[in-house]
Amino acid sequence: MAGPVPVSFAGVPTETTSLAAFIDALPKVELHVHLVGSASVPTVLELARRHPDGPVPVDERELRAFYAFRDFPHFAEVYEAVSGLVRTPEDVGTLVFGVARDLAAQNVRYVELTVTPYTHQRAGMPMPAITEALDHAVREARDRLGVRVAYVFDIPGEFGAAGARGTIDHALAHPPEALVGFGIGGIEQCRPPHRDAFRDAFAAARAAGLRSLPHAGEMTGPETIWEAIEGLGAERIGHGISCMDDPRLIAHLRETQLPLEVCPTSNVCTGQIADLAAHPLPRMLEEGLFVTLNSDDPPMFDTTLTGEYRVAAEVFGLDRAALAALARNAVIASSLDDAGRKAITGEINALL
Ligand SMILES: [Zn+2]
Repeated sequence: MAGPVPVSFAGVPTETTSLAAFIDALPKVELHVHLVGSASVPTVLELARRHPDGPVPVDERELRAFYAFRDFPHFAEVYEAVSGLVRTPEDVGTLVFGVARDLAAQNVRYVELTVTPYTHQRAGMPMPAITEALDHAVREARDRLGVRVAYVFDIPGEFGAAGARGTIDHALAHPPEALVGFGIGGIEQCRPPHRDAFRDAFAAARAAGLRSLPHAGEMTGPETIWEAIEGLGAERIGHGISCMDDPRLIAHLRETQLPLEVCPTSNVCTGQIADLAAHPLPRMLEEGLFVTLNSDDPPMFDTTLTGEYRVAAEVFGLDRAALAALARNAVIASSLDDAGRKAITGEINALL
């Protein structure tokens, strides 16, 4: 790239500094992030002070210590504790605005935020009230932060047919205006006995015009990805990393260019991959697969979307052009309209 040599704050030209600045400035799209898992310390502090009777510290320093990622069991404990703070539609709205604020600070222009309405229903919130809170938060994020928020409703897989029913009923009877997709997450190992209920829910969602965006191949092997493609009509795969164990699936994904939402730090934190250096993302790119970069449950895994682009640069050795290509892939794989795609892609190209 032509242009002036970037100079670090110490006055010494460094490629590292310039690449970090490039990543910060890169206009981004986030396709795989969960509402509760995206709650950062300031947001949780607000909720903890609203509901001070729970196990979550109401002192900021204590909360930061509680939030520091240690291992998967501790992450599960934090996730559970934060979930317990989400009791009213107002709390749901606070979460959405909080994640939009955190993403705006990273130059994220558009996010497809995964919401698990079944857990909010189980907390006693009526579907129309949840939807109203979600709609309101979209307008707030747009008007106050300039971030476009869209929603994906996902089935918590471990709840089986009941979770599928609660999720699809909500999606069909009380969809938020910005609902674009239908997914499934949670423990993948729980899916096979409920296969038909999940297939039925996805068929109904697709018939209603929602995109099929299931998690698959994060915790289990390629067979779950095949089921997502053939049984659930997947238009994008959440994670999909275990595709690398099946040459026939790799060939299929290369041929169809089915987008994969890859979340490297998450895979290490949940113990699916030993460490970042062992992550398959570079091999997935070498195989010609359609990869996007995402953050999953960022504050709980001590990362951000910007942090994932840094990992791609520093651990996987991707240069500016490759990083920009990942950012463009997210635009292409998104549910944005043509004007939205053109605007963000133009910004990315201008930065290059
Ligand atoms: Zn996820």
